[in-house]
Amino acid sequence: MTLKILLNGARGRMGQAIQRAAEASGHQVTAALDVGDKLKPGIDQCDVAIDFSFHDATLPLARAAAAAGKPLVIGTTGHTTHEKEAIRETLAPIPAVWAGNYSIGVNLLYYLTDHAARILGPGYNPEVLEMHHRHKKDAPSGTAEGLVHVLREALDLSEEHVRHGRHGLTGERPGQEIGVHALRGGDVIGDHTVFFAGDGERLELTHRASDRSVFALGAIRAAQWVIDQPPGLYDMRDVLKLRHQR
Ligand code: NAD
Repeated sequence: MTLKILLNGARGRMGQAIQRAAEASGHQVTAALDVGDKLKPGIDQCDVAIDFSFHDATLPLARAAAAAGKPLVIGTTGHTTHEKEAIRETLAPIPAVWAGNYSIGVNLLYYLTDHAARILGPGYNPEVLEMHHRHKKDAPSGTAEGLVHVLREALDLSEEHVRHGRHGLTGERPGQEIGVHALRGGDVIGDHTVFFAGDGERLELTHRASDRSVFALGAIRAAQWVIDQPPGLYDMRDVLKLRHQR
């Protein structure tokens, strides 16, 4: 089926990659919106909306999509806790996919991280390292946040156990801690490594994205999938059916 797509953030790096991926998949971007553009009438005329813009643009789009009863795919990252809660509430009446990373490889990394953490247990210290291009406006990346979430669930740790960077007299690393570190520079599209450091050995799981098209194609795949789903909030592991395979 040819989809009519509203694309928010259309002039950005990801917006352009999504326009190319949509055309290559036989879909049509019927509303290519960016800063200052009105969401109507584009939202009424589309089959699905895709958002890769800026953190404060997602909630107005979620409200418009919910009011028009249109499915939504959210790729934007960097939302505040308050924004995340408001977006979640707003999305209740519609089907929506919300993922910090739409690549297949990264979603497999989530799955492998979950298994590794459960198998290795608390004796292996988890640390997450990410690197992105110098233009990126938020840190840590949405993907790193996703990895931390997976680690927290697998190891039964809370937000207080997450440590963003280290500096000065930090003291010894507590056993119950997840370290998160963000590097920025050059044109790196997105690298993520999860370390599990034990005594006498360490395991490193790494994903490197070398082309934005992987996120764009994943977002298009999510758009094709979400239009047939009942209202609910999904992520890319639902789209790829990686959720319940243990
Ligand atoms: P970018 O800065 O190149 O593009 C963002 C675009 O959004 C710009 O054209 C900007 O003008 C526009 N924009 C800003 N405010 C807006 C508003 N209020 N309404 C409409 N448009 C607005 O950034 P990018 O590299 O394309 O990334 C966009 C977002 O997608 C970021 O949050 C990034 O972290 C995220 N991202 C997610 C994934 C994923 O797989 N989930 C992958 C890559 C990037």
